[in-house]
Amino acid sequence: MCIFCKIVTKEIPSNAVAESEEFYAFHDINPKAPIHVLAIPKAHYQSFNDIPGDVMGRMATFIQEVAKTVGIKESGYRIISNIGENGGQEVGHLHFHILGGAKLSWGHFADADPNDFF
Ligand code: AMP
Repeated sequence: MCIFCKIVTKEIPSNAVAESEEFYAFHDINPKAPIHVLAIPKAHYQSFNDIPGDVMGRMATFIQEVAKTVGIKESGYRIISNIGENGGQEVGHLHFHILGGAKLSWGHFADADPNDFF
């Protein structure tokens, strides 16, 4: 069982923000913004590549509710899902980072120069 599946079953403790039958949201253990929540489907999907469209639709509603719960829906926030090796995904259970609570910087995505690719 993966680490986030164990968080879903409460085998590993987490700091809950919101929960529904299908989804769970909890505070990231290593926050990269004043508010840094992870939203996950309880079902195990390896990454964004694998989530069915209908589940993703309900996930969007859940994320909007989480943003409201933590008080950043109106002030603004960022959603990130890292996918696979080049995307920097470390945990192999689909998760959306919800970051906010401060004006977020933009642009530190890769060491590589985009001009090398285009
Ligand atoms: P990623 O690099 O996109 O796979 O992100 C994985 C995230 O999971 C990182 O931001 C970690 O800080 C976070 N993380 C790992 N283990 C835990 C945990 N037990 N509880 C909360 N967050 C975790």
